[in-house]
Amino acid sequence: MFRLDGKIALVTGGSRGIGRACCEALAEQGATVVVNYVKGETAAREVAEGIAARGGKADVSGFDVADTKAVDAAVDGIVKAHGKVDILVANAGISIDGLLLRLKDDDLERLFATNVRGAIVSARACSKSMMRSRWGRVIFMSSVVGEMGNVGQTAYAASKAALLGAAKSIAREYASRNVTVNVVAPGFIDTDMTSTMSAEMKEQLAKLIPLGRTGAVRDIAAACAYLASDEAGYVTGQVLRVNGGMYV
Ligand code: NAP
Repeated sequence: MFRLDGKIALVTGGSRGIGRACCEALAEQGATVVVNYVKGETAAREVAEGIAARGGKADVSGFDVADTKAVDAAVDGIVKAHGKVDILVANAGISIDGLLLRLKDDDLERLFATNVRGAIVSARACSKSMMRSRWGRVIFMSSVVGEMGNVGQTAYAASKAALLGAAKSIAREYASRNVTVNVVAPGFIDTDMTSTMSAEMKEQLAKLIPLGRTGAVRDIAAACAYLASDEAGYVTGQVLRVNGGMYV
C-alpha cells in the first residue's frame, strides 16, 4: 500500500526536520524525490545521498520559496529534468515569535512571503504539470497553532491558518483534474524549529498532549506518504491533524 513508484515529488525545505523525513518516506515508497533547500546545500545533498545509498532516487534543488521567479524557474528545471512533478509537499517554513505589540512589519512580511506566498506559488508552479498528467498531490504544511492560536505567535499562526483557506480553494479548483490538495497540521514536533524551547517548556507542553509525548518527524512524514498515495485519491480539501490529540 501507498506505493509511489514512478512519481516525482518535490519537497520544499527538504534539507532538515519534517521536510527531510518527508523526503525519506516518499523515497522509501518509490518516488523520485527532489530535495529543496535555501541555505543548507550540504544537508540537502546528505539527504539525497542517504536516499540513494538505500536504493532510492533523489535530486537536490536550491531555491528560496519567497522568490517567485526562482520557484518558477526551479520547477521548470525539475519538469525538464524529470518530465513532470506529481507530488508537492509545500513544507518550507519559518517561525518568528513575539508578542503582538513587539511584532515588526518586516518580520510579518517575511513570514507571509515564505509561509504563505511560498506555498501558494510552489503549488501554482507544480500544478501545470499535474494538470497535464491528470494526477497530482499537493500537501501544505500548516500547524496546530493555525487552528488553535498561541500567545506570541500571531503572525506565524495567521500564516499557517492562511494555508487552510488556500488548500480548500485549490482543492475545489483542481478536483476535476484529479489533483488533490490537503493540509497536514503538525502539533509540537522535535526539530531545529522547536530546539530553542527549554526542557521545562517542553515538559509543560507534553502535559497538554493527550498522547503524552511530543511528535517525531516520522509521524508527519507518514501522514504525507499517505496523502501522496493513490489510496488517498478520494481525500481532498482536508486537514489531517497530527498532534497527539493536542487539538481535536
Ligand atoms: P526546520 O527544522 O526549521 O526546517 C525548515 C526547513 O525549511 C529547512 O529545510 C529550510 O532550509 C527550509 N526553508 C526555510 N526557509 C526557506 C525558504 N525561504 N525557501 C526554501 N526553503 C526554506 O523546520 P521544521 O520544524 O522541520 O518545520 C517544517 C514545516 O513544518 C514548517 O512549515 C513549520 O512551520 C511546520 N511545522 C513545524 C512544527 C514543529 O513543531 N517543528 C509544528 C507545526 C508545523 P535550509 O536548511 O536551507 O535552511
